Amino acid sequence: MSDTNQKPFSVRLIREEFPALRQQIYGKNLIYFDNGATSQKPQIVLDAINKFYSKENANIHRGVHYMSQKATTEYEESRKRIQKYINAKKSEEIIFTKGTTDGINLVAYSFGELLQAGDEIIISAMEHHSNIVPWQMLCIRKGLSLRVAPINKKGEFLIDEFEKMLSKKTKLVAITHISNTLGTVNPVKEIIEKAHSFGAKVLVDGAQSIQHMKVDVKDMNCDFYVFSSHKVFGPTGIGVLYGKEDLLDRMPPYQGGGDMISRVTFERTTYNELPFKFEAGTPHIAGGICLGTAFQFLESLNMEAAEKHERELAKYAEDILDTFEGLHIIGEAKNKTSVVSFTVDGLHPFDIGTLLDKQGIAVRTGHHCTQPLMDFFKIPGTVRASFAFYNTKQEIDTFVEALEKSISMLR
Ligand SMILES: *Cc1c(COP(=O)(O)O)cnc(C)c1O
Repeated sequence: MSDTNQKPFSVRLIREEFPALRQQIYGKNLIYFDNGATSQKPQIVLDAINKFYSKENANIHRGVHYMSQKATTEYEESRKRIQKYINAKKSEEIIFTKGTTDGINLVAYSFGELLQAGDEIIISAMEHHSNIVPWQMLCIRKGLSLRVAPINKKGEFLIDEFEKMLSKKTKLVAITHISNTLGTVNPVKEIIEKAHSFGAKVLVDGAQSIQHMKVDVKDMNCDFYVFSSHKVFGPTGIGVLYGKEDLLDRMPPYQGGGDMISRVTFERTTYNELPFKFEAGTPHIAGGICLGTAFQFLESLNMEAAEKHERELAKYAEDILDTFEGLHIIGEAKNKTSVVSFTVDGLHPFDIGTLLDKQGIAVRTGHHCTQPLMDFFKIPGTVRASFAFYNTKQEIDTFVEALEKSISMLR
């Protein structure tokens, strides 16, 4: 990726590329603070979706005709673009999935086939349900045990406690890079190094990191990295599993069907090579191509400046919210990104979210698919404002006013 394509970082110019941000909700300018749930899409991605279905729609990897070959080329170019962006060694290590959940389930099923009764898997106390439940299902299926590495009340991963849990029995550590509920940035490099010293593999849930920071899987040295397109400015229904080639080679296929085979007879089937071994059936072709377009958009962005801007937004919001009586910020890790989760004494998050919505402000309320984490903090849920690089301080000012109004209405 060359830095010379990058434009100077300007929130005003970036916002112009996102048509969804220009609309009014209940007669108010939309303030979109639900980026943790999904991101809005830049015009270049919207255009790519339209172009694909208008002119290029064809099935891939099979046709002799022009359109099929063009679609195949674009799909595979997209894979290469993603490979380069995350600095994977080979494009064979980039598997297209339906998203983060699908990627984790693929690993839980397929890597899980290599594990035996008595083996252990470690996750953390701040995981999303999609990085908990597939492991629980695997543990039941294979007689493994699932252990949970603790966090402190600030929402920080306790690396020393984690280290004590590691042993020769540990086969896999599955950890989120950034918590969707707390914004905590976990020390994944250190976690990976320690896990590797016991021979364990590490899956990093990147659903909240790829859109907020420059990700380099080679430098991180993770064994698996998963993310969803829809949270990184691309379409829904597509995502990526990165895996180290030697591991993916050793793993059996996840689903059987077309495209993942090399030769089928009724007696025996031989499987296709990577990455197709893990991509059974007609994939989300438009999604795969347009996810590549989303990365093209990211390449044009100064990611360091974007990350700095996002962290400033969160700090700005937190400094104001800290002065609100009875408001508690959940997630105060030293290293955190642009997620601000909070509770207000005596009020239900849902009621706050509903009143904010009426003022054109989109936040998320509830447990954020992290019920065990809510149990840890002994709360039913939070209000979560999660920012992207297209958000502004003015939006936060409006949000703060609306929040004050909502709280006084509910009290
Ligand atoms: C959103 C999210 C997921 C699940 O992603 P899907 O797109 O719903 O598959 C998993 N982990 C984290 C941390 C998330 O934020």
